[in-house]
Amino acid sequence: MPQNQQILLDNRPQGEASASNFKTITSETPALQDGQVLVRHHFLSLDPYMRGRMNDAKSYAAPQPLGKVMQGGTAGEVVESRHPKFQPGDKVVGMGGWQLYSVVDANAPGSLRKVDTTHVPLSHYLGAVGMPGVTAWYGLTQVIEPKAGQTLVVSAASGAVGSAVGVLAKARGCRAVGVAGGPDKCRYVTEELGFDACIDYKAHADAVALSKALADVCPDGVDGYFENVGGMVTDAVMLRTNPFARIAVCGMIAGYDGKPIPMAYPQLILTNRMKVQGFIVSEHMEVWPEALKELGQLVGSGRLRPRESVAQGLDAAPEAFLGMLKGRNFGKQLVKLA
Ligand code: NDP
Repeated sequence: MPQNQQILLDNRPQGEASASNFKTITSETPALQDGQVLVRHHFLSLDPYMRGRMNDAKSYAAPQPLGKVMQGGTAGEVVESRHPKFQPGDKVVGMGGWQLYSVVDANAPGSLRKVDTTHVPLSHYLGAVGMPGVTAWYGLTQVIEPKAGQTLVVSAASGAVGSAVGVLAKARGCRAVGVAGGPDKCRYVTEELGFDACIDYKAHADAVALSKALADVCPDGVDGYFENVGGMVTDAVMLRTNPFARIAVCGMIAGYDGKPIPMAYPQLILTNRMKVQGFIVSEHMEVWPEALKELGQLVGSGRLRPRESVAQGLDAAPEAFLGMLKGRNFGKQLVKLA
């Protein structure tokens, strides 16, 4: 069996996460038992939720245990199998974690999924045609429930989730407006993803200034907001909401290091009779097939052209992860492992 390289959570962050929270080890891969499959990971997905799990805090999921391999989504290839449904060479997606190989108990429901890479590259199954894409689909269609002609705003618009939100909204006849950090990200959002507009929040000093910029590109107000960040962007969008606007609270990355992110205008929830609803995509497995079908079609037809930031090699994972939390990624953050 091959030697494995693994990254563990060594200690919990105090405030901002840092590379010293992680530890790399090498280990022997155990021999396969009946029903198990050995997977060589080609890509590791780095996702903002991992930051929350590094804390020992009450949340919707248990904390990442100390001294254990960092959890995470992976896409790879079966190299050895003692399960009748998997053969060497099969391309698979699972939760293999921050390591080169994983031994998967393939009988456990949802542990390993075969994917077809004929039309969709393997890496996209961790992004647009994977968990982030379904997140976009769920928040948009099940929480915001947009109608044709309505205006939808999404923050972190160039990212794995945000990019899919805008394309799905356009496919439903909405006006899609992104908020992203920097002119390059905004250009990609409008020119390659087809959003109607994108505002660079970093070019505005405060929520009121950002809100004025949003007013120019949302002449009919905002009917739906797909929340990925919190903080100043939320305040700015809230100021532009229409009566009966819906906010899908998907992520609050501005607060993931534990700093409070006060909301400046909560009274608008009342005066605009808004619906504000959080959701966790893994609690809605029933929608995944329908969502993945539409996302696969959008990627296959070229309407959704996901961008990826790909770090090279497992050793690069901690820095790539920390960079993503600061917006240094451009599109889905991955690590190439083979
Ligand atoms: P992204 O690819 O969008 O990467 C994160 C982005 O967040 C950065 O690139 C940066 O973009 C932006 N960002 C970071 N800090 C701030 C800040 N302080 N203010 C504003 N923007 C900031 O990540 P994902 O697409 O994977 O995830 C997007 C959101 O969705 C996250 O909040 C994540 O936690 C959430 N999520 C929720 C799920 C659920 O089930 N509820 C499932 C999956 C993801 P920029 O340069 O534009 O600022």
